Amino acid sequence: MSVFLLPLKLCDELNNLCAKFWWGQVGNERKIHRKSWDKLSTSKKEGGMGFRDLRAFNLAMLAKQGWRMIQGNDSLLHKCFKARYFPRSSFIDAKESPGCSHIWRSLVAALPILKVGYCWRVGNGSSIQSAYKVARRIQGEDRAESLVSSASTKIWHVLWNLKIPNKIKVFGWRACIDILPTRANLVRRRVLTDDKCPICLRESENTIHAIWECAAVQDIWAGSCRKLQKRCSGVADVMQLMECLCDRLTRKELELFWVQAWLAWNQRNRVVFGGNLMDPRNLNNRAAVYLTDYRQAQEQLTMTWTEHQCIETWQPPPSSAFKLNFDAVILADMDRIGVGAIIRN
Ligand SMILES: [Zn+2]
Repeated sequence: MSVFLLPLKLCDELNNLCAKFWWGQVGNERKIHRKSWDKLSTSKKEGGMGFRDLRAFNLAMLAKQGWRMIQGNDSLLHKCFKARYFPRSSFIDAKESPGCSHIWRSLVAALPILKVGYCWRVGNGSSIQSAYKVARRIQGEDRAESLVSSASTKIWHVLWNLKIPNKIKVFGWRACIDILPTRANLVRRRVLTDDKCPICLRESENTIHAIWECAAVQDIWAGSCRKLQKRCSGVADVMQLMECLCDRLTRKELELFWVQAWLAWNQRNRVVFGGNLMDPRNLNNRAAVYLTDYRQAQEQLTMTWTEHQCIETWQPPPSSAFKLNFDAVILADMDRIGVGAIIRN
């Protein structure tokens, strides 16, 4: 991947596999992909999930090789390529020629990135990210609208930095970009024909209704922290709601809000399949207990990790030697053993 340009079709297929995995699609089963891979590949601070787009990553790795070519004028590789492909110009101005090798074609494909980021350092590992950003930007020039707006940047920053389980953050992200499977969204996708809220049976069940305005959730918010009781009125969607809540609530209050919203959403789905509505006080208590347990578990994990780090750190062997690390486990109840080994220089 760092030497050859992968075929576009292969990149698309691999991206598609990742997308299927993300949306929980197994085999030939059909699942709705509620956002394109392109948008999921946008960084988290811009409203995406920050997944790597393989084509852009491939080009970024090639740009690193290209940068080596620029730096290493005396290298054998540079001399060979210069003699063959750009005898009278510099590498940065070189072009693809008919019948050229695949390696050369790959390097030339990454030249636009080098030209844009010429003043940046691409030499070390960390700057591959910069090249990746340039590659995405170049790709983005002919792409559809981005999820970014200056007002939303703060919301994404706050949401992704909350100390709540990732599944709840992803739930929050899905609510913000309006891809939860609400009835309104399912009608839009022609899965259902009636978008009426299955609980209050009065209004259309869109995302803001499901987690903020429906009578069933209003009871939850009424019994929650005081600042939430002074409701953010007239918000059109969850992004506006988040904007309002970010100004009013502390980080911890916002964490509780999202756990409550997540429980309320799950409860809504259970009701659709015949379950009962929980007493709002019970739901709020459950949210508080859930969050306390999570925070305690995180603290313990951090402590164990710090202790662990102090005791064991892998040390590389002397330059002329190899080191073998191994471990084994006996799974008596499964009647199996497992062995793992790694040899490194
Ligand atoms: Zn409702």
